Amino acid sequence: MTKRINVTKPFLPPIEQFIKKIEEIWENNWLTNNGPLHEQFEKGVVDYLKVRNACLFTNGHLALDVAIKSLDLKGEVITTPFTFASTVHTITMNGLTPVFCDIELGTFNIDINKIEELITEKTSAIIPVHVFGNLCNVKAIEKIAQKYNLKVIYDAAHTFGVELNGRGIGSYGNISMFSLHATKVFHSIEGGVLSFNDGALKEKLNKYKNFGISGEEQVDVVGLNAKMNEFQAAMGLVNLSYIDEQIEKRKKATYAYRNNLKDIEGLRYLEDQEGVKHNYAYFPIIINESIFGMNRDSLHEKLQDFNIFTRKYFYPLCTDFNCYDFNSNELLNAKFVSKNILTLPLYSDLSIDEVLRICETIKSIQKEKMPLLQNS
Ligand SMILES: *Cc1c(COP(=O)(O)O)cnc(C)c1O
Repeated sequence: MTKRINVTKPFLPPIEQFIKKIEEIWENNWLTNNGPLHEQFEKGVVDYLKVRNACLFTNGHLALDVAIKSLDLKGEVITTPFTFASTVHTITMNGLTPVFCDIELGTFNIDINKIEELITEKTSAIIPVHVFGNLCNVKAIEKIAQKYNLKVIYDAAHTFGVELNGRGIGSYGNISMFSLHATKVFHSIEGGVLSFNDGALKEKLNKYKNFGISGEEQVDVVGLNAKMNEFQAAMGLVNLSYIDEQIEKRKKATYAYRNNLKDIEGLRYLEDQEGVKHNYAYFPIIINESIFGMNRDSLHEKLQDFNIFTRKYFYPLCTDFNCYDFNSNELLNAKFVSKNILTLPLYSDLSIDEVLRICETIKSIQKEKMPLLQNS
């Protein structure tokens, strides 16, 4: 049997380098609560992301939760149904009502032409997601936010290192959240970052992530525990020296996919966006059943026979989770994408030969299903 290929594989740096880094933890005798490695990592992240300020968290989900709390949002929040559970859970857990906006077919991101009609007197914010590392129209969102006096928090979980015309993507909106989970482009085992332009937010965020404590005898807000520890910071620091090389490898794999899939009818993928330095976080394809000859679910299953494991990402839509009772009737693009999208394997260690094997397998599966194609 051929080698198993999973949809993702976390990067691990050479173990000696990690050990060398964590020896510092023993020397410092400091495990968590703003330790020296935490400080060092926070500075490294600010530089790498090209943002003014950053605050580190134990994971991306709690970072997003704290972002919402720190901006004192009320009432309704406009967001996308085509995202990971985390985005919508943080909104509802903070007592806010998510109002779902449909997505664009070209980027899978919130449709900027449908946001305004959803704004009411109760709307306090927009929480868009840069899905798969493809950027939302940040300029248009900025305009709408200014016009209606709304806050903007970007779920930038997928966009570590992405830039728009040389500007760090985390410098748009009031706050951006980056996830440093093991399966993301860049990780600190688990971890999260909030980036923001308003330096005054820093103190508030630090308070929220440490039980609301502001002094030895003072607790100011109902906070939680969302601090990053020194082991996470150590992994993050070591991984920072590999991130550019990692993204370069992902880029090569992505281009190999595009080159080898471009002639398949009924299969579509996303291209690079203009002016954007991408991080090549994911390689999603859309299967148009009537042209491709089989649906997304069958392709997903059939690839497993060849030891290739893809993911229906994001499926189901957040609006269709068992725990929620939302109406998704008008979210036509989101429904279409969610039903027909398949995320192919992509990670820095994925070899070009493996990409070719995946592409050839997709072609052979399609031919088997549609024998007529062989003659054309
Ligand atoms: C991964 C992810 C999160 C949550 O990040 P964690 O670090 O895993 O808590 C939030 N939103 C999106 C879109 C994600 O992909």
